Amino acid sequence: MIELRTAAQIEQMRPAGRFVAEVLLALQAKADVGVNLLELDELAHQMIKDRGAESCYIDYHPSFGAMPFGKVLCTSVNDAVLHGLPFDYVLQDGDLLSVDFAASVDGWVSDSALSVVVGTPRQEDLDLIETTTQALAAGIAAAQAGNRIGDISHAIAVVAKRAGLKINTQFGGHGVGRTMHGDPHVPNDGKPGRGFKLQPGLVIAIEPWFLHTTDQIYTDPDGWTLRSADGSRGAHMEHTVAVTEDGPVVLTAR
Ligand code: MG
Repeated sequence: MIELRTAAQIEQMRPAGRFVAEVLLALQAKADVGVNLLELDELAHQMIKDRGAESCYIDYHPSFGAMPFGKVLCTSVNDAVLHGLPFDYVLQDGDLLSVDFAASVDGWVSDSALSVVVGTPRQEDLDLIETTTQALAAGIAAAQAGNRIGDISHAIAVVAKRAGLKINTQFGGHGVGRTMHGDPHVPNDGKPGRGFKLQPGLVIAIEPWFLHTTDQIYTDPDGWTLRSADGSRGAHMEHTVAVTEDGPVVLTAR
């Protein structure tokens, strides 16, 4: 079921968006060569405690997950692109890291993700992050009342295809509200003019993610982490966005 929020409720959702943005900024600042993924998770966990927020991940146990997630953060490195379960791994020079974080503040969820390279970047990784960033911006720009979900999906896909990337539509954006994942699904490719008509009060996570040379993924033996089928690297950018009378509002803006 797709739920619409009042303007007052969208105002109530802003603190969660700001908090998620603050955590991602702190993670971005801390992520560096020599830092353990578990330290990043601990930093996010401490910020959750300090803020009196609630993790959306720690008890998360959907049908596709082998067990409750157990961490507060997704850390996906190199050929991992989504749902990366933090483990005892020290970041190496040139690693491409994606962090995805969702938390609830005052009963409202926000969800956001970003990718960075630690240490010396490969140009191809910077290009992939840039394309993913541009795809997110295009998707947000299409989140206008009167448009349809397919317009967002199409806008994202145009940017990716221009860069020669393949698109996996199995995992994409979603409604956000009292819980992390609601309707509608917001795929990263679709037909313009198709799907649910966007209305003021719709709050969705828009989250393009792409791999260099494939659209195929598999699940790591950890039961969560999604990796590229061919070992190529991935990038992921996500914001929680409210559709309003005045256009899209990025609740997780950094
Ligand atoms: Mg997310």
